[in-house]
Amino acid sequence: MTPRDLAYLDHNATTPVRPEVLEAMLPFLKGQYGNPGSPYWLGQQARRAVEEARARVASFLGAADPQEIVFTSCGSESDVMAIAGAYWQAQDEAGGRRRKVVTSAIEHDAVRGVVEALRRRGASVETLGVDAQGLVDAEAAAGKISSDAAIVSVMHANNEVGTIQPVETLAEACRSKGALFHTDAVQSAGKLPLDARKLGADLLSISGHKINAPKGVGALYVRKGVRLAQTITGHQEKNRRGGTENVAGIVGLGAACELAAREAAHAGRLRAFRGKLEEGVLKIPGSRLNGHPTRRLPNCAHFSFEGLDGHNLVVALDLEGICVSSGPACSSGASTPSHVLVAMGADERLATGSLRVSFGYGTTQAHVDRLLKALPGAVEKLRHVGAAL
Ligand code: PLP
Repeated sequence: MTPRDLAYLDHNATTPVRPEVLEAMLPFLKGQYGNPGSPYWLGQQARRAVEEARARVASFLGAADPQEIVFTSCGSESDVMAIAGAYWQAQDEAGGRRRKVVTSAIEHDAVRGVVEALRRRGASVETLGVDAQGLVDAEAAAGKISSDAAIVSVMHANNEVGTIQPVETLAEACRSKGALFHTDAVQSAGKLPLDARKLGADLLSISGHKINAPKGVGALYVRKGVRLAQTITGHQEKNRRGGTENVAGIVGLGAACELAAREAAHAGRLRAFRGKLEEGVLKIPGSRLNGHPTRRLPNCAHFSFEGLDGHNLVVALDLEGICVSSGPACSSGASTPSHVLVAMGADERLATGSLRVSFGYGTTQAHVDRLLKALPGAVEKLRHVGAAL
């Protein structure tokens, strides 16, 4: 089967590179291979392309100045640069008076991992819980954001259930306590209007491969005046991140941001697909929709089905040429409930039978119809198998 025949409905996992993005990148994978740090013509061509891309990303993120954008290798690196960089900088500047890191219980593993690493090295960590719809209680959180907090990191929108967090309110609470506020906007970029200044973020992460640019490039918005300890030493990116720039990837990210900004109306089309999908799926007995009913990404829906394993459902749909995802799988291949659903207090029986469907560039009504046609049979078959075991 060629990718052309697939119904790819897993855009929260990754997205195809758009032809316009590839076109913009190609010269920098061919003749224009200069190092942007080189002073001669070939290097300066690359430098110009990097700076044009920086201006595009800055405009997409509502930054006041292109120099507020630091290019990274991925969303995970942006998260680590923001959180570890802010924490270690606070240790240098505040001499241990700001040892607290505040985060939510539903963050991506990139954030969870660096927060845990800081905890092991002496940070005091406060984790904000969420309600049954995956929403952080901003008022309760404000009470936990104290004047010993160095950095608060709460994602803009959740990658599994899509719930959109009250980041403006959290950012405001941080400002009043002198703490920095970071938001992981990897999933909201290209799906929601994104304006770092309106959100009040000091630091904001995005990733190329979630917005139709290639894998291996990301960016961190760093509000002017915010200082971060270096996590990758070196002199590139104005001494903020070492490593020769991924020129082609950066150009691709710039092109993808420009396209995403131009096509903001795209979200309405995806929301219509989502409505149809939910209407159809919820007719299946023993199914439910997870996440917030209204504060949710327009492109995705997350379901639970009683009496089956989500991993097996993904495999069954793959046989029909449909790509979707379940919760994270453990090494045995059986699904374990995701930390997000656990934090939302989901019943374990339902949490293991989960399915995430996410739309994006290239999704058509025919793809949605194909899933709606295949799903009831696949669910029924797996329930039969499960009951017989
Ligand atoms: N943050 C969120 C919310 C994500 O969904 C992901 C990827 O799934 C990441 C961070 C990591 O991004 P990357 O794959 O570019 O490292």
